[in-house]
Amino acid sequence: MISFYPGPSKVYPQVAQYLQGAYASGILSVNHRSPAAMALVEQTFARLREKLAIPDPYRIYLTSSATECWEIIAQSLTARGSTHLHNGAFGQKWLEYAARLRPASTGTAFDLNDLLPVLPEVPELLCLTQNETSNGTQLSGETLAAVRRTLTADYASAVEPAPLIALDATSSMAGIELDWSQGDVWYASVQKCFGLPAGLAVLVCSSRALERARQLNERAHYNSLLFLEENFQQYQTPYTPNLLGIYLLNRVLETVPALADVAARTRRRALEWYRFLETETDWVPLVSNPAVRSDTVLAVQGTPQRIADLKIRCRAAGITLGNGYGPWKDTSFRLANFPAITDEEIEALQQVLRLA
Ligand SMILES: *Cc1c(COP(=O)(O)O)cnc(C)c1O
Repeated sequence: MISFYPGPSKVYPQVAQYLQGAYASGILSVNHRSPAAMALVEQTFARLREKLAIPDPYRIYLTSSATECWEIIAQSLTARGSTHLHNGAFGQKWLEYAARLRPASTGTAFDLNDLLPVLPEVPELLCLTQNETSNGTQLSGETLAAVRRTLTADYASAVEPAPLIALDATSSMAGIELDWSQGDVWYASVQKCFGLPAGLAVLVCSSRALERARQLNERAHYNSLLFLEENFQQYQTPYTPNLLGIYLLNRVLETVPALADVAARTRRRALEWYRFLETETDWVPLVSNPAVRSDTVLAVQGTPQRIADLKIRCRAAGITLGNGYGPWKDTSFRLANFPAITDEEIEALQQVLRLA
C-alpha cells in the first residue's frame, strides 16, 4: 500500500527492522531513569541538533504530540493569553485549545491565498502555523523574518522585551529547512516529515522562551515547561516516556541525509508536483498563490464526484490519498510530499492522475 496521507503518513521502511532492533536491545524494558535510557535520549538530542541544525542555545524536549505542545505553550508561556493568526483547521484548533486554558487568547483568520494580516494588538505570545496541513499553505522564511523584525522593532521597549513567537511546524520540520532564530518555540510530532509512527513530538525552545517560563514559574501540570526543562537537563522525563518512539527517532535520524539535502529534494519535488498538475492534468491546486503554497503538503481542488472517482482509481492502484480537511473536506484532496515517499511512488500516483 502506498500512502500519501499527510499524517499519520508513510513510515520509513527501515522502521520494520528498527522495531526488531528496539526489542532486541532491551531498551523497551529498562527504567527511564537508568543510564541506558538517559544515553538514548542524549544521543537522540545530539542527532536532532546535528541533522536539523538546531543551534545550541535552543533547548530540546520530547512530548507525546503537537496537541500536547499547544497546552504546554498556553499554560507555561502565557499569563493573559496568546494571539493567533490562522488560515486553516490546525491553526484554529490551536487557538481553541489555548483559549480553554487562557480565555483572553484571541485570533484573526486570514484567507488561504493571503500573506499574514497585520497584528490586531501587541501580543503576549504570537502563535503561527508555519505549515497549515489542512489546506497546503506555508509561511515562508521571508514572512517569518518580517514578523520577527516587526515584533522586535515595534513592540520591544526598554522595560518589555519583544513578544515571543511560537510556530507549529508539525508537517514541515525535518522536511524543509527552518531558520530557528525566527521563532522562540517550535514543535512537530513525528508522524509527518520524520516518517515515524505517532506518539512522540519534538519541542524546541529559545533561551528567551525559557526565561519567560521561569518568570511565570507555572508548575501546576505534569508537563509544565519548567518540569520538562529540569528533567531533560538530565535526559530524563517527568513521566515514563515513549522509549520505543525515541529509539525509532534516534535510528531514523542516524540514517537520514543532512537536512539541507532533504530540503532541496522536498523543494524540487514540490515544484515538480505543481508543474505536473498544471501542465499534465486539469487538476487545480487549492492554493492559487504560489508564494504561500506548501512544499510538504499539497491540496488539490475538485468537485466531490470527481474526487470520489479519483479515490476509487487510486484504491485500485494501491494508493491512499489524503482526504480534504475542515471546510475543504469534500472539495479537495491532499498529498503528502514527505521525505519517506519515493520517486517511484510519486510516479505511480502521477500515472493515475494523468488519466483521472
Ligand atoms: C498533525 C498536526 C497537528 C496535530 O498533531 P498531533 O500529533 O496529532 O497532536 C497539529 N498541527 C499541525 C499543523 C498538524 O499537521
